[in-house]
Amino acid sequence: MIERIFDNCFAYNSVMQSISVLGLGIIGTPWAARYHAAGRLAGTWNRTAKPQSPKWKESALAATSAADVTQIVVADPAAVSSVLDAIVPALGKGKAVVQSSTIDAESAVQFEARVRATGALYVESPFTGSKPAAEEGKTVFFMGGDAAAIDAVEPLLSLVSETRFRLPSVGKSAALKLAMNLQIAGLMEALSESLTFARRAGIDDALYFSVLAKNVAYSGLARLKEPKLKGGDYAPQFSVKHMHKDLRLADRDGAGLPLLKTVRLALADAEAQGMGDDDFCSLIRLLRV
Ligand code: NAP
Repeated sequence: MIERIFDNCFAYNSVMQSISVLGLGIIGTPWAARYHAAGRLAGTWNRTAKPQSPKWKESALAATSAADVTQIVVADPAAVSSVLDAIVPALGKGKAVVQSSTIDAESAVQFEARVRATGALYVESPFTGSKPAAEEGKTVFFMGGDAAAIDAVEPLLSLVSETRFRLPSVGKSAALKLAMNLQIAGLMEALSESLTFARRAGIDDALYFSVLAKNVAYSGLARLKEPKLKGGDYAPQFSVKHMHKDLRLADRDGAGLPLLKTVRLALADAEAQGMGDDDFCSLIRLLRV
């Protein structure tokens, strides 16, 4: 059924057919694999060479030249800017850039102007859904930009997502993503403190999570992180360094938001203690039982 809808979408000329992924980290790697399995991947590129990646290209420029759509999923605004420097010569009419790294609204507006000046389409499409959602094709996108640009790229993005929201501008799209991460970071800190409090009282984790599951405070985050917290597994689904980066970006408009400041400091502490590449559930490691 999903494939039939997808094929129908590709019947329209304005819909783009092929995609390259720039940035093969925790998220870009499973997305590229899904595009490849669907026969739509034209290229992959990563700053640190990963020639084993499907459709590997030696440069970002070559990957962009090979595809209708270039999806960027790298660390931060500075990384996106350097990727754009490299690919702008390959952009123009008939091409589109989908920017999926988590960045701030101001940068998104600047990047849109830069890409559109070449004649290419631009969609700001940050996302939620961590590594498991990326692997399962359940990423949730917040797509901002012209309706025609979104229409052109959405069938390709449907290969890695089930849910796509449309936002009226690229800036709102970037801001909504930061708003979501502000919520998730706060929930992680609250869960960490609550679990630590229970552990101090000698309550075992199995009982704690059974009770939490019946409590109004139970969240998708608690469901996702329960096995990691029980097992002390800090392998990254979403890293401390990127959550820290997101709260730094959010803090530019964070006047009067006390939880943002508190969790930002905790993440800075975790990064300073060498946990930057670990999962952000490492916030609990800052608390002593
Ligand atoms: P990751 O595993 O740390 O990968 C980061 C990628 O960015 C790597 O490919 C890295 O290349 C590249 N990169 C870093 N600096 C660069 C630069 N200056 N120029 C070019 N490439 C550069 O991160 P991730 O978890 O996949 O996340 C990617 C983006 O998605 C981030 O903005 C993150 O905030 C956002 N995000 C992630 C999740 C999640 O659950 N993981 C969820 C929502 C949003 P190297 O391999 O060379 O270092």
